[in-house]
Amino acid sequence: MSKTLRLLLGDQLNSNHSWFKTVDDSILYVMMEIRSETDYAPHHIQKVVGIFAAMRAFAAHLEAKNHQVLYLTINDKDNFQTFDKNIIQLLSAYNCTRFEYQWPDEYRLDILLRELCETLTIESRAGDTEHFFTSRTELGSFFDGKKTFLMESFYRALRKKHHVLMEGDQPLTGQWNYDSDNRKKLPKDHKPTPPLCFHNEVTSLYNEVIKSQCKTIGTIDPSDFIWPITRQQSLDLLDFFATECLPLFGTYQDAMTPKEWSLYHSRISFSMNIKLIAPQEVIARAISEWEKRPTEIEFNQLEGFVRQIIGWREYMRGIYWNKMPTYATLNFFNHQAPLPSWFWTGKTKMHCVSDALNQSLQYAYAHHIQRLMITGNFALLAGIHPDQLDEWYLGIYMDAFEWVEITNTRGMSQFADGGIVGTKPYVSSAAYIDKMSHYCGSCYYKKNVKTGDKACPFNSLYWNFYDKNEQKLASNPRIGMMYNVWRKMKSQDKEALLIQADFYLNNIEEL
Ligand SMILES: Cc1cc2nc3c(=O)[nH]c(=O)nc-3n(C[C@H](O)[C@H](O)[C@H](O)COP(=O)(O)OP(=O)(O)OC[C@H]3O[C@@H](n4cnc5c(N)ncnc54)[C@H](O)[C@@H]3O)c2cc1C
Ligand code: SF4
Repeated sequence: MSKTLRLLLGDQLNSNHSWFKTVDDSILYVMMEIRSETDYAPHHIQKVVGIFAAMRAFAAHLEAKNHQVLYLTINDKDNFQTFDKNIIQLLSAYNCTRFEYQWPDEYRLDILLRELCETLTIESRAGDTEHFFTSRTELGSFFDGKKTFLMESFYRALRKKHHVLMEGDQPLTGQWNYDSDNRKKLPKDHKPTPPLCFHNEVTSLYNEVIKSQCKTIGTIDPSDFIWPITRQQSLDLLDFFATECLPLFGTYQDAMTPKEWSLYHSRISFSMNIKLIAPQEVIARAISEWEKRPTEIEFNQLEGFVRQIIGWREYMRGIYWNKMPTYATLNFFNHQAPLPSWFWTGKTKMHCVSDALNQSLQYAYAHHIQRLMITGNFALLAGIHPDQLDEWYLGIYMDAFEWVEITNTRGMSQFADGGIVGTKPYVSSAAYIDKMSHYCGSCYYKKNVKTGDKACPFNSLYWNFYDKNEQKLASNPRIGMMYNVWRKMKSQDKEALLIQADFYLNNIEEL
């Protein structure tokens, strides 16, 4: 009997994929835990354990449905630790006459598998993951011939195309964008909803990962692993979001507080990125909750959420496939500074930064505004090399896969793409951080002080950034105003700010 080997990557755990509609004895599914995947960046221990646990649960699910599965664990003696070596060996061991895989979401793996197939003497075929709203090339076609890649227009086109929150060809309620109703600071006495955490026992898997000696960062409690590792848990998390968090999602989308680590965010990026759940069902669940409770859940909360999934997520993927591999080399500001060592330990006196870093090390998670306006903001102001930052963001977060990590980090956060993703760099002084959070009051540094002892580093670094990059930024219509303020400042004040910034940059490890 002819045999087909079908490869499933660790982020291809889509049980609704058409591959699984029929059970076929001539098909052998292969899944593998390999060092080439654990080692391309120093990953958070929870990310490694979480992906392997989800892969193992998925393999067990397929077996329970009578599919044939071959699973190579990380310390398996027959594991050659790379995709190509394992596949070549298995094709031969099982006398396979055909090799199939789903298109990877990472450029690196796309090339690797395409090149592998070119060397094979048997037939091979690659197909869709059947997960996203858009194809890899859809964004490129949509913006073909245009100078700018505006997320808002892509988002609106997708809402129309997929009839999401639409009435005919007009947006339901007549308005596309509710950003101005959202993004409020958390009131001081407001107690955010505690996150739903799971209690997965993954100690034996954790011990296997430790035995393999792959380098990891962060901490874990393997007897009480909090992240969803099955489709059912992912659906439970989605339910929890829809019922408990959606009513305040938009309002506190940009709020930050040391009191709670995920606020009203969904924390479903991990489940979605490994495809345990699909973006279509995530949106459908949120919409159905809003339909059930229209007086309790305002439309701006729902639109704010739908925009993240059908807008930003699909847009970032489209940019990735349109701009790679060049995208990974872009460094618009020519930033060269190394990442401060405290990014890996959380040991800094800046309260906002230490909270974002320590939370990331503890949970492998930070919400969007912590990634963008705290760690990303600091890194951009400090001129950190985007390669080092990409490595950090790619390793530390549960949901970090290059297609969505690099477009957010190098693009949205660092403006290293010169304005493909964002129309201006996301930088701020202490004023914005204080406006959106409760950090400054208990910080070693003083939010209102710009120079001298205990001056908040964000203040001088902010003006230093604009000063150093005047040639590149002054003509940007969205930031020209900042240059008017800078130019009107007294020269001795400007000089004092630049001296202060220099001092902080030269002593960055001590911050
Ligand atoms: C520097 C930086 C790095 C990032 N790296 C990643 C990454 O590696 N992986 C990742 O999935 N997201 C990344 N993001 C985007 C965003 O921060 C995360 O998707 C979000 O924090 C995940 O948490 P959540 O599920 O609670 O999101 P929620 O706030 O509940 O949002 C719902 C969903 O919308 C999607 N979404 C929201 N914002 C974005 C965005 N900017 N781009 C793409 N999808 C978005 C996510 O799928 C998310 O699960 C990054 C953002 C920044 C600024
Ligand atoms: S004072 Fe500055 S460093 Fe401290 S929490 Fe506020 S913004 Fe962050």
